[in-house]
Amino acid sequence: MVSEKSQRKAVTVLGATGSVGASALDLIRRDPERYEIAALAARQDAKRLATLAREHRARLAVIADPEGYRELSEALEGSGIRAAAGRDGLIEAASAPAEVVVAAISGAAGLEPTIAALQAKRCVALANKECLVSAGRLFMSTAQSSGATVLPVDSEHNAVFQALTAGPREAVKRVTLTASGGPFRAHGAERLARVAPEEALRHPTWSMGAKISVDSATLMNKGLELIEAHHLFGLSSDRLDVLVHPQSVVHALVEFRDGAIIAGLSVPDMRIPIAYCLGWPDRTAWDAPRLDLAKLGTLNFELPDMARFPALKLARAALEAGAGAPTVLNAANEVAVEAFLAKRIAFTDIAGLVGAVLERAVPEGLKEPSSVAEAIAVDHVGRSIARTLLPQFAAKAS
Ligand code: MG
Repeated sequence: MVSEKSQRKAVTVLGATGSVGASALDLIRRDPERYEIAALAARQDAKRLATLAREHRARLAVIADPEGYRELSEALEGSGIRAAAGRDGLIEAASAPAEVVVAAISGAAGLEPTIAALQAKRCVALANKECLVSAGRLFMSTAQSSGATVLPVDSEHNAVFQALTAGPREAVKRVTLTASGGPFRAHGAERLARVAPEEALRHPTWSMGAKISVDSATLMNKGLELIEAHHLFGLSSDRLDVLVHPQSVVHALVEFRDGAIIAGLSVPDMRIPIAYCLGWPDRTAWDAPRLDLAKLGTLNFELPDMARFPALKLARAALEAGAGAPTVLNAANEVAVEAFLAKRIAFTDIAGLVGAVLERAVPEGLKEPSSVAEAIAVDHVGRSIARTLLPQFAAKAS
């Protein structure tokens, strides 16, 4: 006899209290007949994690910060839900039996558990950028050797993934990722230097966490996405383009050698690509917000301005330099964004600092990380150079 429970798709959400996690859980909440939760993990909000775990009747709840373990286990008392914490807990959550693992822990902290999910041959709905930016080759080769499936959650890569089904891979001429251009698309260079963190957090089309909102404003986000696309789809830098498209309706375009272009469109709502990943290989019906092109009337496109937004150029240079350069780029950018949010450096110094770190690190010939430990070591080198150079930029800003 097949139990009712076994017909549902078991989903694990790593990063359950973040923006992508909330969107995934919203979809799961809407369709209890289709989905059930295997494990939930969060960084430090034990109370919220316990509430979510109880609501979704998770089997396992994991708090990444070991200090939150007591609060979590107390909040789960009597629920029958197992509580765990720290690195081992995250790895246990990532490899627990599930049909889909939504990997949405942000930052380098997401790397090890996501690799563990791949090693356990899980279908990974990937929302963490660092996995591909810091350790892309390792990540994809782990997926390949275990036979795990990687489904991109990021709207642009999700659109590319879908558009690529229109033709054979060798017939792809070019892939274009669109960028909203962020809130400062029309700002002059002088105004950009005076941008406050609060302004950078107000993204015109997407609602996201602080780090990615700042990355969108500098266009570093699009640069990181070029690196992601390189690894996900095996495309060299010269086949990857960026187009600024303020409405964020067209997410990406795939051009084939016969001149045909397949574009992925939707309203800018992360639940749409997440629903695709949860439902894959099927397409599930849900009450999705619908795109009304007649109402929208016009879609605009323009080339990115590399002079005002040099972060995009730095990311492309790191992609082309290869080896440890993308890992260093990402690490330096994390330090720079944090310093900007803490009002220690100016908005324009984010790219300034990242560029200075790359200039110092790349000649050292850091090698391509071939293990999680190596990726973390190269990441640390990038961070430490960034922290050494930071005071120069901080003094300039004050
Ligand atoms: Mg994106």
